[in-house]
Amino acid sequence: MTQPRTTADWQALGRQHLLAPFSDYKQLGAKGARIIQRADGVYLWDSEGRKILDAMAGLWCVNVGYGRRELADATHRQMLELPYYNLFFQTAHPPAIELAAAIAEIAPAGMRHVFFAGSGSEANDTVLRLVRHYWAIKDQPQKKVIIGRINGYHGSTVAGASLGGMKAMHGQGDLPIPGIEHIAQPYWYGEGGAMDPQAFGEWAAEELEKKILEVGEERVAAFIAEPIQGAGGVIIPPQSYWPRVRKILARYDILFVADEVICGFGRTGEWFGSQYYGLEPDLMPIAKGLTSGYLPMGGVIVRDHVAQTLAEGGEFYHGYTYSGHPVAAAVALENIRILREEKIVERVKAETAPYLQKRWQELADHPLVGEARGLGMLGALELVQDKKSRTRFPGGIGMRCREHCFANGLIMRAVGDTMIVSPPLVIDREEIDALIGLVRTCLDATARELA
Ligand code: PLP
Repeated sequence: MTQPRTTADWQALGRQHLLAPFSDYKQLGAKGARIIQRADGVYLWDSEGRKILDAMAGLWCVNVGYGRRELADATHRQMLELPYYNLFFQTAHPPAIELAAAIAEIAPAGMRHVFFAGSGSEANDTVLRLVRHYWAIKDQPQKKVIIGRINGYHGSTVAGASLGGMKAMHGQGDLPIPGIEHIAQPYWYGEGGAMDPQAFGEWAAEELEKKILEVGEERVAAFIAEPIQGAGGVIIPPQSYWPRVRKILARYDILFVADEVICGFGRTGEWFGSQYYGLEPDLMPIAKGLTSGYLPMGGVIVRDHVAQTLAEGGEFYHGYTYSGHPVAAAVALENIRILREEKIVERVKAETAPYLQKRWQELADHPLVGEARGLGMLGALELVQDKKSRTRFPGGIGMRCREHCFANGLIMRAVGDTMIVSPPLVIDREEIDALIGLVRTCLDATARELA
């Protein structure tokens, strides 16, 4: 057990030794981190004993909620049975095999193989290597270019950050690497201007075809996209977008990668976002909800024809020490068992998501909210100075709103001035009511600060 310390002690020790991800080190140095100590259900407790409703499920991952003893027990059991072995050089172990089979049962039809990784970023590194390997096996090694989207997020490793379209990330370290192209995102509220949303969705989809033609079909290996962009700000494409993208993809011989790291494991009310939108991807990177975040694990689910091609290619010189880690696999299996037996995905679709979305829409009347949008267990609020013209506040107010959230016992994420939520799937009605009440309190506090 850790020694009990004061918040200031933790912060000081952290400042001395911890390099935290995605944190402004200048600000962190001045203020110190918030120390989260314990969690149960949809709530966290910080080092001051304050109770916080975690409307982000950690980082979009704690789908079954915190404090699940079954997952701790599965960890304990597997640690004693086989704490580690690997899948290299023609070995395997029961948890990884069983997990691949369990994933095949819930995945879209015809996607029956899984390559395991340690995270979503690693999964997307695997995607990059796998699609190029795939085309090389098919005697088309020149098909190397992968098309992603501006403001898409596919992780933080060199491949993940390159496939993603985050400007700030590209600005550090000469990214993207060669062979990656980006097209416009289907972000109607932010970029659609005076266009009708459906016309805008079609325009954004057609950007894909333009890019394929510009690069040359013979050089394009794949298109990668999140069914709903998460880290970009819960960007829900207009209804016209995915059907038009599908039509375009059908015309060209390129692979389609649906990044399910956030949308997978129930977030949309289906097991995968691809099922929600009727997409038929060739590859689906997964992570997060796979273990509900209890242990790190990711993977890539592949369609049968891809697995068949890989089988013809002999050895794939790729893999991670922790690919299919037995303890993580045991936790993922138990997590999937919980999701299935408690019918959590079905409940999201029938009850929880419709209720969350109904209540979320009520926030649209707040003076700061230009748009309240949501789908499944995802929600976003666009904060604006002027609703009609969608004018933002000079200097931005998202981070200020986020501070008010913390002060009032709520975790919401700010992506610029888009406030987003992605709560645990097990959140109940009362907790949704509490969430909406807290969001309104925080919006009011932000508005008061601006007045
Ligand atoms: N892909 C998507 C869609 C994500 O949202 C994320 C993380 O937020 C990743 C990939 C990267 O996953 P990880 O942080 O586990 O590396």
